[in-house]
Amino acid sequence: MSKLKYEPVIGLEVHAELNTKSKMFCRCSSDYFGKKPNTHTCPVCLGLPGALPFINKQAIEKCIKIGLALGCKVSEKSLFERKNYFYPDLPKGYQISQYRWPLCINGQIMLDSGEAVRINRVHQEEDTAKLTHQLRTQNLKSKTQKCSFIDFNRSGVPLVEIVTEPDFKDVESVRDYAKKLQQLFRYLDVSSADMERGEMRLEANVSVRPEGTKSLPGYRIELKNINSFKFTVAAIEYEIKRQITAIESRKKLSQETRGWDDDKKCTYLQRSKEEAHDYRYFPEPDLPELKMDRLKVMIDNSRKNMPELPWSKQSRFVSSYGIKKTDAKILAETKDLAEFFEEAIKQGKESGINAGEIANYIVNKKPDIDSAQATQIIRKLKEKNVGVIEDEKELEKLAKQVIKDNTKAVLDYKKGKEAAMQVLIGSVMKLSLGKADISKIKPILEKILKVKP
Ligand code: ADP
Ligand code: MG
Ligand code: ZN
Repeated sequence: MSKLKYEPVIGLEVHAELNTKSKMFCRCSSDYFGKKPNTHTCPVCLGLPGALPFINKQAIEKCIKIGLALGCKVSEKSLFERKNYFYPDLPKGYQISQYRWPLCINGQIMLDSGEAVRINRVHQEEDTAKLTHQLRTQNLKSKTQKCSFIDFNRSGVPLVEIVTEPDFKDVESVRDYAKKLQQLFRYLDVSSADMERGEMRLEANVSVRPEGTKSLPGYRIELKNINSFKFTVAAIEYEIKRQITAIESRKKLSQETRGWDDDKKCTYLQRSKEEAHDYRYFPEPDLPELKMDRLKVMIDNSRKNMPELPWSKQSRFVSSYGIKKTDAKILAETKDLAEFFEEAIKQGKESGINAGEIANYIVNKKPDIDSAQATQIIRKLKEKNVGVIEDEKELEKLAKQVIKDNTKAVLDYKKGKEAAMQVLIGSVMKLSLGKADISKIKPILEKILKVKP
């Protein structure tokens, strides 16, 4: 009997901290990273009784921008709800989030594999405080003790959550998706999305099913609080194996949240997963609904100011400059690099240096684009071409040879076909193994063709 094959089912939740000036529901600065603990706080983000939140418009605009870039629809009706749970990093006892009425819904993103991943929602919420756990030595008895510290600078920082449908079938696609989102956040200038700083966080939901099955497994394992991309990938890979083994030995898997132990290289149970109803979601009574007539202005603004997206840029580089797909991907990686490349192309055109050469140079030499200038690159490429044949006599010799070998093109040219000249120029280039000075070939060919009958 042949053994059943299993395939993983993976869905992702990505959180991004928005780079707004102030927090989501108060005026405290949201630029908290590395700042002295508990210096960016006020009654609202400390959750003091009676303090009233108000909505940061800039954050809503950035959330909409992300949604639109992912092909989502901005909801006609959206509002905030309270997600209630107890944890020391949550002073109010609830997180203001969105649940039933998220800001943006139903988008999609294309992966390199050619497969699309559906985006379920892009919603707005707030960050929690930051807990730090340490082992401290006490002076008196030099006993070590576990201590926990809370920094409220992070509470209330705007967070956007992007939730996919369970469309991933392998970790490669997960990697590609996460990279694309990070790149998008930076292109849109909505978040620096630095994973090490916790500005972008990944949660993966994993289950497995027999290959070819259409319906979703009746459980999912949520991999949470894993603060690096590498570990998330390792945890997903581990989970896929663990779950297959469990199913094969007829163990029942159930909904739970697991973390990653990088010393033991395995996932471990954190808690059995709570269900949505455990959070007692209800509409936030202190905040107004987001009304479409007011959102309309933001949507129009976002559309107007939408930059060319990385994937469009990439395919435009291929189609208009004829460069390799892999090079285009590298050159479109950041907006700055892409701009640099296009500036070099503009300048290269005047010196007869083609896009392929420039792409090649930038991709392989990786010049530091902060200090380098496009002009320098063009100069370097020109120098590199010093093997260039500029000597008129030599060029004439090449031209004569080409004229002899291309009687048809010569005839066409004499009949007035301008395109034939291009054929001749191309042949001279070819014959010279690319070394002829292209700017001098045409006049030389013209001269010869004029004097000869
Ligand atoms: P929660 O806040 O409870 O995690 P969300 O709706 O925010 O719920 O996220 C659920 C995530 O789990 C989505 O990314 C979804 O695609 C994914 N998911 C749902 N069912 C499965 C499944 N059977 N296997 C893997 N992922 C799943
Ligand atoms: Mg979740
Ligand atoms: Zn505050």
